[in-house]
Amino acid sequence: SQNLTLAELGTWLRRASTLLAEASGHLNELDAAIGDADHGSNMRRGFAAVEAALDAGEFPDVAALMKKVGMTLVSSVGGASGPLYGTFFLRLGTSQAGETELGADALLAALEAGVEGIAQRGRAVAGEKTMLDAWLPALEAYREELDDLESPASPAEGTDALVTGRRALAAAVDAGARAAAEGRDATEPLQASKGRASYLGERSIGHIDPGAASTAILWQALREVLA
Ligand code: ADP
Ligand code: MG
Ligand code: MG
Repeated sequence: SQNLTLAELGTWLRRASTLLAEASGHLNELDAAIGDADHGSNMRRGFAAVEAALDAGEFPDVAALMKKVGMTLVSSVGGASGPLYGTFFLRLGTSQAGETELGADALLAALEAGVEGIAQRGRAVAGEKTMLDAWLPALEAYREELDDLESPASPAEGTDALVTGRRALAAAVDAGARAAAEGRDATEPLQASKGRASYLGERSIGHIDPGAASTAILWQALREVLA
């Protein structure tokens, strides 16, 4: 298929689990500086539970799969990130009821629904030094890449140059992943005003936000699935 299939969504989650487990020490260190040093352990435990749920169940559509993922994260991750990532996957799923694969536009809509869920649940906006500071620029870059591909800037490029289907999906996700990593790095000079790190006030400045770092890992995993 040109689209991201249910099986590939499963591959994404499994790859994310592997990368999060590899990064868990680093994510704990980031959280040690401005929180309680458990973000890597939280993500590792949550995604190990997601992998077990994938092994145990059959999922007829995107909504069923993502509902399971979201509920698994909510129930297995203590701390702020469990309900936030849990809400992300739940909303991503409900936005795609009945679908069994996602094209580039549908994936964008799904990710937007998920991120809106994070913002509502966390009552956070851009610039508060949270995972949203990776999610929001990633979505913007994805959207821009898709716009550019769908309407080539110069007529000389013509319709032959229109990049569609799988290549558009891969290019948009690649742009999103790059922007997520940049967003993660750009949290360093910010002062936290949400979550545990906000208790530090100005002392939260000068450290990368752990949740923004795990969000960049989710994007990296998705990019690898499409590469
Ligand atoms: P806890 O802080 O409860 O120990 P984690 O360490 O697992 O939970 O997750 C911390 C991350 O959660 C932060 O780095 C930040 O990215 C994210 N976070 C915390 N509060 C919020 C919020 N209100 N909105 C969005 N993201 C948040
Ligand atoms: Mg923590
Ligand atoms: Mg904690």
